[in-house]
Amino acid sequence: MTEEVILSVRNLEKQYPITEGLLRREVGRVRAVDGVSFELHAGEAFGLVGESGCGKSTTALSLLRLEEPTAGEIRFHDEDVLDYSRSELREYRRRVQLVLQDPDSAFNPRLTVGEALEEPLRVHGMVDSTRRQRIVTDALERVGLDGDDRASYPHEFSGGQKQRIALARALVVNPDVILADEPVSALDGRTKADVLELLGDLQTEFDLTVLLISHDVDVVRRFCDRIGVMYLGKLVECGPTQSVLETPHHPYTRALLSSVPSLDAHTPATATGEQTLTDDLPDAADIPSGCRFHPRCRAIIPPEEWESSSETWRRLMELRLYLEDDWSDTEALARALADGGRDWQSGDGEFESRLRTAFALPETLPERVEDAVADAGAALARNDLAGAREQVRAVTATVCEQESPSLTDEYTSHTVACHRYDPEKPGEALDGTRTRQAKEERTDAN
Ligand code: ADP
Ligand code: MG
Repeated sequence: MTEEVILSVRNLEKQYPITEGLLRREVGRVRAVDGVSFELHAGEAFGLVGESGCGKSTTALSLLRLEEPTAGEIRFHDEDVLDYSRSELREYRRRVQLVLQDPDSAFNPRLTVGEALEEPLRVHGMVDSTRRQRIVTDALERVGLDGDDRASYPHEFSGGQKQRIALARALVVNPDVILADEPVSALDGRTKADVLELLGDLQTEFDLTVLLISHDVDVVRRFCDRIGVMYLGKLVECGPTQSVLETPHHPYTRALLSSVPSLDAHTPATATGEQTLTDDLPDAADIPSGCRFHPRCRAIIPPEEWESSSETWRRLMELRLYLEDDWSDTEALARALADGGRDWQSGDGEFESRLRTAFALPETLPERVEDAVADAGAALARNDLAGAREQVRAVTATVCEQESPSLTDEYTSHTVACHRYDPEKPGEALDGTRTRQAKEERTDAN
């Protein structure tokens, strides 16, 4: 791998308007990609990983301008891709080839494999049909198929073979870069490994730069030199694969790793106490403020003046998020809190006591919190959901909700966007390393 930058992406954004009514009035926006920056270096395999729906495919499509980016910069060999003329764009799309997950939708069922593979050559101006056929035969052989397969139709092949054909089709035009979006996700175990291995061989042989997109950490682990972890349209951690996967900093990366069924059956994630991702990804049309992972994060930083345990802090935060769910009214909330438990008592303190039980809050809480929970309960009893939320919100103000973290240091190889790694913020880093400020203080003291 060299440091030559082939493709560079700066603050890439892609939004989709949400419209309503006959006049298609815009009522909101899906922020599918929300400020992504990374570079592809010559010859490397860079992986984009993250839960389904976090914006990986939209990133790939925007890179090729198959979806027009809303904002940001894309440079290919230092040329401005967003400034390309039609013919420059065609040439760019030859040099940067997209391979998709679903081989079935990638092929026209009425074309033979030979016709399907000759098509891109024809589009790019190769008129000599003998030459086209020779290139197609070579490509098919190169991906482990037979030149005679040219005459067959896509449906005659297995999923793994179809994915090989898709790779051959990407290769015939002699690209520099392959954007592979979930290329093996539709395949089963052994075939998956074979196709990944083939992609690796092709990468070496043809000196390709690869952007590999997958929701599956194991796929990027096996294939990529560097990875970027994406969450709700943004990169939250980025670095050499081994470094990111062996010492993940971001709570999201940790949770993503713990959610992969462990190969070592003796240490299920639940036993290590790490967070797993069981709940749903928030709506990309309504991205949480501050650190977008904060509503799901177990490592969320307490207010600076917090005087109780971090466990109590987490529970209080869960209570707050519960109150902020879209309850139709306090009746609905009361029904949910009463569900399966003892009968609802008609006292003033009923809501408070139910909430304390449901979120296992300790007997004694810091005074401000004690008051807030009591006041929230009283507000609920008055049917004042907004008031209750406000009470709890006032004692749970966290930097994670208020400020968006930026990547720790753009110029180091392993970066993370989490306030716990920001020397200015009160939280402690999660991985045993102290924050930079703490380190500096220690150095000063010596
Ligand atoms: P991933 O590939 O990581 O699964 P996508 O890039 O497909 O994620 O989607 C990111 C977000 O953008 C999702 O919330 C998805 O619903 C939304 N999205 C993708 N394409 C469109 C579109 N054409 N119109 C509206 N929303 C879209
Ligand atoms: Mg996708």
